[in-house]
Amino acid sequence: MEEPGYHKYFHPIYPPNLEDWIEFMEEDGEERRRGDISSESSSESGSFPGERFSRCVLIQSISEDVSNSVESGLEDNIKSFEDNMKAVKDNLKTEQTCGTDNNDNNDYITDKYSCDNQQYSNSDSPAPVIKCADNPSWLDTLRLDQLSWVGTLGIGGFGRVELVTAGENNNMAFALKKMKKNEITDEKQQQHILNEKKIMSSCSNPFIVKLYRTFRDSRYLYMLMEPCLGGELWTILRNKKRFDDESSRFYTACVIKAFDYLHDKGIVYRDLKPENLLLDSSGYIKLTDFGFSKRLEPGEKSWTFCGTPEYVAPEIITNKSHDNRADIWSVGILMYELLNGVPPFSKKNSSSDQVYSDILQGMKSVNFPSYMSATAVELIRQLCRLSPSQRPSLSVTRRYMWFAGMDWEGLENRTLTPPYLPTIAGVKDTSNFDNYQEETQQPEENFADWDIDF
Ligand code: AMP
Repeated sequence: MEEPGYHKYFHPIYPPNLEDWIEFMEEDGEERRRGDISSESSSESGSFPGERFSRCVLIQSISEDVSNSVESGLEDNIKSFEDNMKAVKDNLKTEQTCGTDNNDNNDYITDKYSCDNQQYSNSDSPAPVIKCADNPSWLDTLRLDQLSWVGTLGIGGFGRVELVTAGENNNMAFALKKMKKNEITDEKQQQHILNEKKIMSSCSNPFIVKLYRTFRDSRYLYMLMEPCLGGELWTILRNKKRFDDESSRFYTACVIKAFDYLHDKGIVYRDLKPENLLLDSSGYIKLTDFGFSKRLEPGEKSWTFCGTPEYVAPEIITNKSHDNRADIWSVGILMYELLNGVPPFSKKNSSSDQVYSDILQGMKSVNFPSYMSATAVELIRQLCRLSPSQRPSLSVTRRYMWFAGMDWEGLENRTLTPPYLPTIAGVKDTSNFDNYQEETQQPEENFADWDIDF
């Protein structure tokens, strides 16, 4: 059972119907609940491109032209925030829903298939993880019509993520993200999708969902990814209400490993939340959804307003430039949410605007329940310092008391026992995800060529 007021809200990254989107933005969290839609309708032809619910609204707008004049002080911050919100709404009205990162310079890896995949036995026992670091070159020649559809894992901004199988006896599972080309009309949305592909294909790390390859045809863009059949961490958190220190430490450590890798490559992620953390068959976490990530050159900053309200760092709200220290802030928010079941700045009883002004006040007004350990509270307070320069780096974070005794080596070589081992009956088991009816309607063909490099 979900807690009242804390549901998976619809999560339209790029809604086709902007009036609905603006109205949706202006409603408060409780009214925004559309939890029944998923059982009401299976078609994706409603107001939004699907019946997927997600807790948070993603907001993004280009704000690179906004001057960085706010120096300090809450009043200035709030004013800047209000200007920013106005810019967001204006942008939404003019269908400029998303910022672009034109200066990306990601290097592609050459060993693009040297990563994990999971192969499942037909038995009911937990699925074994089989490494396929031996470059399955057959993926290079794989055609879409060789994939067998199994079921839908989730619905995102432009379409579905399907579980498909391929290979000998169809014993290899993949997550296939299908994005409808006719809905990706805005140039900035297109840039973000190209960017997501570029960044994901440049990553090869056990704590990050692997993108094997992409396809395109006249109706869809496809991303063939490593499947994580354990489901979203969000779902497990909802079921368990909250995690203890040990479990939270394990999941936070997985995120730190992923961020270590990304930040070393100059990539800022910008959308941390339990919904974007998927469990693989061994109960370890993998980061997914790189729609807001960006590669920054050393010393470079970004001004793009993006993220999920509850997780967004104060410097993003106030239009100050930001960098990977915005991710550090989000690690503190994640820790709090894992330990409490709700994030510290929550829309439960307030609007997004109220959430933003709460964030600008920082941790001083946040309630830390007595069941939270002193070491956890201390670390959260440090990670969520208002000033990015006062937040600890990832390597310093590992040295805080809360992480004392953490077996980082065991995490790295995957010998550390995870808090929860998902039950995955086999290659076709979608039971750790919500139920979705099969998609019946095909989108119209679209022959735009912006995706030529996809
Ligand atoms: P996205 O469009 O990336 O936001 O994905 C929509 C939903 O599909 C996610 O919230 C997950 O529940 C599911 N999903 C995405 N990628 C994967 C994956 N690699 N393995 C399993 N489920 C996934």
